[in-house]
Amino acid sequence: DVNMINVYEHLPFDDPDGGVWKQGWELLTSDQEWSGRKLNVFIVPHSHNDPGWIKTVEKYFLEQTQHILNNVVDALSVDPTKKFIWAEMSYLSMWWDGASPDRKQKLKTIVKNGQLEIVTGGWVMNDEANTHYFAMIDQLIEGDWMEWLKHTLGVTPRSGWAIDPFGHTPTMAYILKLMNFDNMLIQRVHYSVKKYLAKEKSLEFRWRQTWDQSSHTDMTCHMMPFYSYDVPHTCGPDPKICCQFDFARLPGGKYNCWKVPPVAITDSNVEVKAKTLLDQYRKKSKLFKSDTLLVILGDDFRYSAMKELSDQYTNYARIISYINSHPQLNAHMQFGTLSEYFDAMKNEIGRLTQFFSFDKCLTSSNMCFSLPALSGDFFTYADREDHYWSGYYTSRPYHKMQERVLESHLRGAELLFALALPKVKWSQDGESFSRELYPLLVQARRNLGLFQHHDGITGTAKDHVVVDYGNKLMQSVMDSKKIMSFSAHILLSEMPSYDPKTTVLNFDEVFQGQNQPPQPTVIKLESEQRPVKVVLYNSLDYDRTGVVRLIVTSPSVVVMTENRNVIPSQTNPIWSDQVEPRTDRFELVFLSTVPAIGLAVYTMWEDNSVEDSTHATVHFINPPAGFGKRTRSKFQLDVEPMKDEFNIMNDQLVAYFSGKNGMLRAVTTVRDNMKTKLALDFAMYSSRQAKDKSGAYLFLPSGPAEPHTPDTYRPLVRIIRGPVMSSVHVLLPNVLHKVSLYTGTGAGTQSLGLHVTNDVDVRTGADNKELAMRLTSGISSGDKFFSDLNGFQIQPRTTYSKLPLQANFYPMPTMAFIQDDKSSINLNCFSRLTLMTAQPLGAASLKSGELEVILDRRLMQDDNRGVGQGVKDNVPTPENFVIMLERWTATGVKENKAKAQLAYSSMVVHQSSLELLHPVRAMSASHSSYMNVDYRSLPQPLPCEVHVLNLRALQSRDATLPSEDSALLLHTVGRECALDADKYFHPTCLMHGVERLAIAQSTLFKNMGLQKTSLSLQHDGERLNQESGISVSPMEIQAYKIKL
Ligand SMILES: [Zn+2]
Repeated sequence: DVNMINVYEHLPFDDPDGGVWKQGWELLTSDQEWSGRKLNVFIVPHSHNDPGWIKTVEKYFLEQTQHILNNVVDALSVDPTKKFIWAEMSYLSMWWDGASPDRKQKLKTIVKNGQLEIVTGGWVMNDEANTHYFAMIDQLIEGDWMEWLKHTLGVTPRSGWAIDPFGHTPTMAYILKLMNFDNMLIQRVHYSVKKYLAKEKSLEFRWRQTWDQSSHTDMTCHMMPFYSYDVPHTCGPDPKICCQFDFARLPGGKYNCWKVPPVAITDSNVEVKAKTLLDQYRKKSKLFKSDTLLVILGDDFRYSAMKELSDQYTNYARIISYINSHPQLNAHMQFGTLSEYFDAMKNEIGRLTQFFSFDKCLTSSNMCFSLPALSGDFFTYADREDHYWSGYYTSRPYHKMQERVLESHLRGAELLFALALPKVKWSQDGESFSRELYPLLVQARRNLGLFQHHDGITGTAKDHVVVDYGNKLMQSVMDSKKIMSFSAHILLSEMPSYDPKTTVLNFDEVFQGQNQPPQPTVIKLESEQRPVKVVLYNSLDYDRTGVVRLIVTSPSVVVMTENRNVIPSQTNPIWSDQVEPRTDRFELVFLSTVPAIGLAVYTMWEDNSVEDSTHATVHFINPPAGFGKRTRSKFQLDVEPMKDEFNIMNDQLVAYFSGKNGMLRAVTTVRDNMKTKLALDFAMYSSRQAKDKSGAYLFLPSGPAEPHTPDTYRPLVRIIRGPVMSSVHVLLPNVLHKVSLYTGTGAGTQSLGLHVTNDVDVRTGADNKELAMRLTSGISSGDKFFSDLNGFQIQPRTTYSKLPLQANFYPMPTMAFIQDDKSSINLNCFSRLTLMTAQPLGAASLKSGELEVILDRRLMQDDNRGVGQGVKDNVPTPENFVIMLERWTATGVKENKAKAQLAYSSMVVHQSSLELLHPVRAMSASHSSYMNVDYRSLPQPLPCEVHVLNLRALQSRDATLPSEDSALLLHTVGRECALDADKYFHPTCLMHGVERLAIAQSTLFKNMGLQKTSLSLQHDGERLNQESGISVSPMEIQAYKIKL
């Protein structure tokens, strides 16, 4: 069995010239080899349609994709021997909406009779590096149009198809497994890994999750062996020959070959041509265990002309006919679909496994026909030389950030909508609530789904396409706010009502444009006689304590809970310039508690006589010349005394900063009073000056990063201190860097972490540069670090000197950490340093004790991967992070967790990460007398480990309205129990730490019945009776249909 960690350890990552198969080796075959055997070839025609890249999704559809689908449907329906596969449901749905009844009927027929296979069935072919598992699952469910495929076309997809994502994740294999898929195919994998697996005949394997102790997550996976999915790289090892069998490249057409052009197949050349092609097939088949061979036939946006389709089918039909009528060639060829290939391959292997005994399988690799198990992932992708695709982990960070913002808004809207629906349904407004808001919810799912595309969230589309994606994301964020606002209003009211013309609850922020940070809503405060009510929404599944921030019009505020307790609050200045606070608006912060998936109501008013709110104090380092101590809007502004070091603190941490430049230098954890080194600095990478330079996809640095500012640089530093929170602001070129500590008074996870915000702006002074944030600690992490895959699981990484710098960068969708490699307790340092991120970015640990992340990149040229431009449309982007420091407990040391090949986060980190992604949302009430009590959806807290991933109102058959059912997706996180921070926060959920947990059904909302279903929601299982509980295991995701 194969573990990718060991493969990386073992591979030399050299790049010898393999001849015609440049990245492989010379493959030889002969007629004798095939005597008594038969090569069974499946030609699978396909067309790769990006939902946005060079053109927007709508433009592609109008100009290309609708014609492609028309041609395919027309051609297949007149000839039952023709086959095709289709992946992108976003396009199929656009096509269906505009297709004639006749064509719709034709599509149904060719799908039902197996000529056209729907592969994956996702809204898009999602990126696998930057995506979060919430959105990956959501775009697959939406792509399935719920019941649409099943009920209209009579199919459920069973094979995954991912020929273009830039590297591959095992999370995808797990999700497809849970959706009852049988097979999957991947393509873009590092050429050295492909060569290694080809040598081992392990390009087909059972992809197993690293955390799976049995084999129940195994998913049959086919990895394509060569450089690309185009025809020159799919028929066999020699691209020059294979190109001659792409009949779309016949002379005079739209495409051509760079060497020898194809010629049409005729009676006089068919023998020579068939034998030439068969030779390639035979050579390719030597890389696989079975004699069943997959040959895909297509390319980007192929078959937009009927002639191309007929050229391809007709010429192949002649070759097929020749080969099949000459048994001495020992081959059989046919058009097929992807699942037909997998079925035939598995069938053959099944027969061979039965024929040879298991012992033989163990002793001789040639005799072993069962597919090996493989665990691990396929990052970071390189397609040739040292061209590593680690740039797209960071490209267009504003839109990556905005994707997570929409994801959080959509999830928040889904939950509240599903909970409000049963309450409003029987009222007179129920109908209009559903009819007006549900389509917005569906559109938000689709816009989030669209951006999961491998040229969307990756940041690899053209500028105007990025703008189109940005507008769609922004529109759906606003729509989700609307749904949350109206749903919250219903849940808080005794008599549910819905009036679309009256927004009772104002959104927390509004957008001015797709590439501008949202403007926070300013809450106008008045006297106690006219108090403002603010509704806080916590979409997470535990009672949550944390500091919330609002923008208000007064620096003197009284904040009261629903029980009429006045609580401590603090007002902070908002800056009109570097040292001058605004006098018309202020930041109000207070410690709130909001029920699990619930709403809390806070009341506030202005009171200038009573000092119930505390005004932050402000100190400056390196202020402008002539600055003197002063008071502005009740804030004391002063110069910090000159010292080597200053600090800010809360009840859990003391953070120390350089007195010269304000950068973080050390941290004391109050719980053990241990002061340890933790430095934070910025650095810049430059693109190399050679022929190939960094671009949207590629990271090609000229060498290690240089310090962003010289040692002597003295930026303006603001130090803001108060009882609720304290912050340090450092005003650097290209970045406004802020570190904050929040009070927790013993509750919640927020006070355990250092909260970092970087307002990044690389539009000036950073051409062909990449800005990095680097943490340096005393942890002896050696060459090991850990980064997450899709927010779902942790993958161990090794930094190799045998690899170029850019190869050692990995995706960081939600977090990365380093840990002490010693098994004893190092008293001088903490054991694990975790960096959590609110937006996907590229990360690395290039030296022991270091962790770094690329914040933004500005690249002035194309990197020759098709987008045809640089990345120059940078947008000022607020990027949020949390840093957590943890120490092994005695158990952790004893079990030598430091050496683990399998790692998890602690519960504290899981919750911090969720809180970073899903901030509490505040909605202020314009008229507020009706609201009296908090809203609580869960009768009892769920176990800590259980995360309500989604609660999603299902579509009814008429598709514009929600049905009676919702889908409930539960994820039980895997957690590390041997870290100390978990002991210091007081969870309001229940901690278990056992293998399997039981949840009583009665704790899951006010549900009227649960039915188990597959993650695709298409394979229903048993209906649970009210008494039976649910049993969950760490790492697993479960799906239910629930009646609320
Ligand atoms: Zn693509």
